[in-house]
Amino acid sequence: VEHDLVIRGGLVVDGTGAPGRRVDVAVSGGRIVEVGSIGSSTAQTIEADGRVVAPGFIDIHTHYDAQVFWDPTLSPSPLHGVTTVVGGNCGFSVAPLGESNAAYIPRMLARVEGMPVESLLTGVPWNWSSTEDFLRRLDGTLVPNSAWLIGHSTLRAFVMGEDGASGPATSEDLVQMKALLRDGLRAGALGFSSTWAQTHNDHIGRPVPSRYADADELIGLSSVVGEHDGTTLSFIATSREFSDEAMELMTAMSRAANRLLNWNSLNVQDGNEAFVAHQLSASDYARANGGRVVALASTGSRHAWMNFHSGFVFDALPGWDVFFAHAVADRIRVLEDPRARGELDRMAQTASGTLASVANWADYIIAETYSGSYDAYTGWTVGQMADDLGIGRFDALCEVIVADQLRTVLLRTNSDDSEETWKRRLAVWRDSRVVLGASDAGAHLDMIDGFAYTTGLLSAAVRERQLLSLEEAVHLITQRPSQLYGLRGRGVIAPGSWADIVVFDPETISPGVPSIRYDMPEGGGRVYSEPVGIEHVFVNGTEVVRGSVLADARPGRVLRSGRDSTTVFARPPGGES
Ligand SMILES: [Zn+2]
Repeated sequence: VEHDLVIRGGLVVDGTGAPGRRVDVAVSGGRIVEVGSIGSSTAQTIEADGRVVAPGFIDIHTHYDAQVFWDPTLSPSPLHGVTTVVGGNCGFSVAPLGESNAAYIPRMLARVEGMPVESLLTGVPWNWSSTEDFLRRLDGTLVPNSAWLIGHSTLRAFVMGEDGASGPATSEDLVQMKALLRDGLRAGALGFSSTWAQTHNDHIGRPVPSRYADADELIGLSSVVGEHDGTTLSFIATSREFSDEAMELMTAMSRAANRLLNWNSLNVQDGNEAFVAHQLSASDYARANGGRVVALASTGSRHAWMNFHSGFVFDALPGWDVFFAHAVADRIRVLEDPRARGELDRMAQTASGTLASVANWADYIIAETYSGSYDAYTGWTVGQMADDLGIGRFDALCEVIVADQLRTVLLRTNSDDSEETWKRRLAVWRDSRVVLGASDAGAHLDMIDGFAYTTGLLSAAVRERQLLSLEEAVHLITQRPSQLYGLRGRGVIAPGSWADIVVFDPETISPGVPSIRYDMPEGGGRVYSEPVGIEHVFVNGTEVVRGSVLADARPGRVLRSGRDSTTVFARPPGGES
């Protein structure tokens, strides 16, 4: 037997964007060893006639940090063809962990990233210490490959304690944070993440620790990243339009590290041309000033389930953070009072940028109600219901959610997917200042199906709308993210590459129907979907998915910066600094 595996007769779309070719792919020792006409004997054969053979998809923005302990398959991502994930985004890693932050991190994470807190407290041991300890713990336990960023809020709470982290850091605090970051990067963490986004609040309604950091702290920590090979930066300066200061800060961080800085997320919606152009100009500003800044754009095909109980996203509306800092009973009293209600709506309508559409009450679909009083309106939009009742839109919304004790599930869909908007989306995906992703997989579990952005792109944008070729779409979710993060030997099908491979049916591929699945520790629920058309997924040459079934194998490598990644500089080496 010459090869471990041969995938025969499929259309190989190799990730580079080159036209697909009908050839065989041979795998041995976890690597692709030959692409062409292969006659020799093999241990395993996959007949891929009529199927596409592509590199495994690379998801650079996930929050699987806690899930690794209760679901080492990191489902549902591998089912959707994802073979490599990056975790620890937005400043929220679970390492390093010490006495000072061990109680805080799970509660903050549960709130800010929308995970059931009971599931995190009972399903995760919370007993590691350093980043090195955390990474070692994962070696040999996971289905996909994974790489991990070190989160700023986690470092801050470790050094300053839960309460201390809601204020400025002293120079001694910063020295300690830098030392922890350095240790983690040396152990192989992929980089540093942080946030100033207005949507990022902890379980008691305070901004998360990194939002109390000043520019010097962020730039100082970024400079530590520049000391280590194969590392990167991820930072959210705001969920609103970039100010000049925000552009300068992102640039200064990138410059201090001499690394690419990735910010998220850019969503193309009806009528936000000027906003998108402005946000993308941050990359031009960085380029002109010695940095490199890239936007993480969404595929635009995700749904969001929202509610006034957790309040996530709504709490970023102007003046609404105060409202959501109140307990549920107090919030209900506010919503029952016509004057207080009117004031909330007035403030909401002043939202700008990405948040403007959050206050378009008429567009929300009433997905689930609980009181029985409004069952008849399930599946209606709030606008339709308001017209039917002959009352204002926000009033109609308040009537339902008050009756439901705020638990009403509201669904946001792409009411904006006009032909024109899809064309603008495509232009953004192709832009050299952009990388595609923003799944937030593993987070906002009651809210979004972003994990399905891969199968969503291949069905909605490629097959249904024929906006772009299969070859280009595959490139955008394989080689492109791999190159921007410097991942060695991932993202293409070529001899010598790791055998991360997806075999799918281009005629049927789709994200499947999302539903809530109650399979988390303590019975917690999450949005989940099994795709259609993904037939085989291989990680490092081992089959991990067949149809919609996850295998028992755990071939995923925990990637270490430097060893498994190369440096992506902000400025090419040798150029003037
Ligand atoms: Zn995130």
